[in-house]
Amino acid sequence: MSGATRPKRPARPARPARRLALVLGDQLWLGNPALADFDPAQDRVLMIEAASEATHVWSHKARIAIFLSAMRHFHQQLVDRDWPCSYLKLEDELLPLSFQERLAQVLIELRPETLTVCEPGEWRMLALLQDTARAAEVPLQVLPDSHFMCSREEFVQWAGPRRQLRMEYFYRQMRQRYEVLMDGDEPAGGRWNFDADNRKGFAAAGPGPLPQPLQFAPDAITQEVLQLVEQRFQEHPGSLASFGWPVTRAQALQALDGFIAQRLPAFGTHQDAMWTGMPWGWHALLSSSLNLHLLDPREVVKAAEQAWRAGAVPVSGVEGFIRQILGWREFIRGMYWLDMPRMAQANHFGHQRALPAWYWTGKTNMRCMQAAIGQTLEHGYAHHIQRLMVTGQFALLAEIRPQEVCDWYLAVYVDAVEWAELPNVAGMALFADGGRFTSKPYIASGQYIKRMSNYCKGCVYRPELRVGENACPVTTLYWNFLDRHESELQRNPRMLPMMRNLTRLEPPERDAIRLQAANLLDKIDDL
Ligand code: FAD
Ligand code: SF4
Repeated sequence: MSGATRPKRPARPARPARRLALVLGDQLWLGNPALADFDPAQDRVLMIEAASEATHVWSHKARIAIFLSAMRHFHQQLVDRDWPCSYLKLEDELLPLSFQERLAQVLIELRPETLTVCEPGEWRMLALLQDTARAAEVPLQVLPDSHFMCSREEFVQWAGPRRQLRMEYFYRQMRQRYEVLMDGDEPAGGRWNFDADNRKGFAAAGPGPLPQPLQFAPDAITQEVLQLVEQRFQEHPGSLASFGWPVTRAQALQALDGFIAQRLPAFGTHQDAMWTGMPWGWHALLSSSLNLHLLDPREVVKAAEQAWRAGAVPVSGVEGFIRQILGWREFIRGMYWLDMPRMAQANHFGHQRALPAWYWTGKTNMRCMQAAIGQTLEHGYAHHIQRLMVTGQFALLAEIRPQEVCDWYLAVYVDAVEWAELPNVAGMALFADGGRFTSKPYIASGQYIKRMSNYCKGCVYRPELRVGENACPVTTLYWNFLDRHESELQRNPRMLPMMRNLTRLEPPERDAIRLQAANLLDKIDDL
């Protein structure tokens, strides 16, 4: 880059700011508590892009791009309001590379009376802010994140001293507290839970035509970001070719409207189904907008409930959707803060194997993994069951070290933020916490994947085979897992049907499964 075109350092303001409001990359809303009572005459906003945030896990290009583009658009909104703002761009070569060093430099240069920030979504970031502010001798004010409908303190109170926590009870309380889908004191439709209606696969002909989600053509800001990411992070996984994610609040609202009108009516029934060439199903694709805080969960829940009350959506579908936002999303965030930092180190089964290299390329013969990883690399997206029952359960059955699996999940999805990713991966998919909030490991043989998708059709492996040349690796490893952990799993009442099937196998067959699994795990990179 020539000297003439070099970006400039942020101009030093005439006098120290009263409050330096740090807006992190996933806190992009004007209701951000760090911006409350903002006085442009005395206060200043700080936003920091840093390469270290894209490289501490080997982030998908689309994940890097969505954060940078959304941050730059939000910055533009602040500039339009004439709010003084120090915006540190990634490509600013005069600045140090890491987020921490950049922040330290600004604190030393600007010497604000306080550094104010909304609670970060990551333990690592909170510790980093505390350390950096302490070292610079600037008082740090951390404000509760009002985006969420259950605060960290409220969740701690709800959890109490219980060792095992269940989302279902938390969710019912949230429904009552916010009077969502309630008819007086009773749940709408007479049931709290319509999961049983929402788990259907497709008929042999497949899903048929689907309403396509809105895609947003990159504007000038996004195009610049896409170019930057292609140049700077060339070696990183994933493609930017189809990048069309919402990066502003206006776009996120359009995406919400489009989902409610076109996709929510059929959301529930096939929520868990998978099909080749169907990356989105009827899913909302709102997680990145929610996690960037472009959308408020209250408005999403309200819009869905209104559609049901207007008769446009069946109660089973709207319940299935609202459960995800008001239930799972809030619960998962509560669990993250409740169990960190030990959640990040959890490894209940002591798994130590390395993540197969094909998790980063999709180059495997297993069609289910090809499909889930392939669309992840193409779009930075896979839906819940693909994450849980395809890539997630394979990692569990293949005894991969949880921390490697978590790093992969944090890297490859456009919605990946640690408070959401870690409990879902370590807690839900890998049972690494020994069942803190799941009553049993989420595992199934290849037959489940066959039932819920068309992936097995045309796969070189056969889902019904446990052993032999064409045995399905998922099926072999599933039985191997039951066998290996028999004594523990037998004590779990919810595992009893699976364990009963295991005890029906004769010893030679169990030996054959063990041998097949050992060989398979030895050459896992060749599957
Ligand atoms: P939909 O299926 O249409 O659901 C609607 C919304 O509900 C989502 O937008 C999301 O905000 C919320 N939601 C649903 N399930 C969950 C859940 N279990 N936890 C938190 N929110 C939920 N979600 C993330 O936001 N970030 C992650 O990094 C992430 N990692 C995951 C890793 C694994 C192994 C698993 C099993 C799940 C993960 N999830 C994560 C949860 C879920 O898969 C995604 O939120 C969802 O697939 C996003 O797509 P969507 O917006 O189309 O969601
Ligand atoms: Fe996946 Fe096994 Fe089905 Fe192949 S046969 S797609 S490996 S579940």
